Amino acid sequence: RAKEKGRNTYCFFTSEMQRYLARHLLLENALRRAIDNNELSLVYQPQYSLQQQKLIGFEALLRWQHPELGFVSPGEFIPLAERSGLVIPLGEWVLKTALAERAAWQQLTSSELTVAVNLSPVQFRQPGLLTLIDAQLQAHQLSAAALELEITESAMVEDPAQAASLLDAFRHRGLRIAVDDFGTGYSSLSYLKRFALNKLKIDQSFIRDLLADADDRAIVQAIISMANSLELETIAEGVETAEQQALLKQLGCQAIQGYHYGKPMQATAAREMISRELGREP
Ligand code: C2E
Ligand code: MG
Ligand code: MG
Ligand code: MG
Repeated sequence: RAKEKGRNTYCFFTSEMQRYLARHLLLENALRRAIDNNELSLVYQPQYSLQQQKLIGFEALLRWQHPELGFVSPGEFIPLAERSGLVIPLGEWVLKTALAERAAWQQLTSSELTVAVNLSPVQFRQPGLLTLIDAQLQAHQLSAAALELEITESAMVEDPAQAASLLDAFRHRGLRIAVDDFGTGYSSLSYLKRFALNKLKIDQSFIRDLLADADDRAIVQAIISMANSLELETIAEGVETAEQQALLKQLGCQAIQGYHYGKPMQATAAREMISRELGREP
């Protein structure tokens, strides 16, 4: 078959594809051992309510530091973990670690903070997911409302009937569901009313040029007004400036997340932030 396609295809394969495959295999093998070797950690990015003017929770984001490969970004290793199935044990580690951290916040504040965890579509289709979540919430004596699950539109489109019943089960438990990267998927908007959702996370691509680009502003405005009508909460991702924050508040967006309010930080720094912002009175 390679012969039929000719010399150019063959050359392309030996150079770029081979380098790509080599990196892929290297990362996959390294990732297999990452949990046992303690190379994974979570950082926590704060979320701020524009209406209540206070810290409302953190999104847990996975970090991988390999002794030789150095820092590998989730943008590179998550897709790889999804294809190899490694995202299942990885996702389980993330859920356990994030909920253990959330339990520690209980000692610092009486505020009902949420910890948001990203769910890969592969995890979303895994039969044991609900059992795992139940067990972990119980192990840490947390109410379901302490956990927000971030799913993408793509998780819902593949098998809408399965997705709908899983989301119903989540809602029945009291778990919160946010749609991540909202506005970048290709799914029909009809899923917004069919599925049990709580929140839309407006993708950062619409926020970046919000001040200068009238089209982006129109899109953000439309998302917020649609969310209001459907009784969904809104949070804008990737908010980097005070001007973006002010405009989002004016447009009626409920919350923000981004470098302006806070970058993803180590667990200890997040705890300090909670004590500083919402600490119990002595
Ligand atoms: P995401 O869930 O949409 O997370 C937001 C990403 O935007 C994070 O990148 C965050 O560091 C970055 N970000 C936050 N604020 C700003 C800002 O103001 N400006 C800019 N330019 N970027 C900002 P990160 O940590 O590299 O994660 C990338 C993606 O990897 C995530 O996108 C998520 O899809 C995935 N990911 C991360 N952790 C996990 C995980 O534990 N499980 C799964 N399944 N996916 C994960
Ligand atoms: Mg996310
Ligand atoms: Mg996002
Ligand atoms: Mg993203």
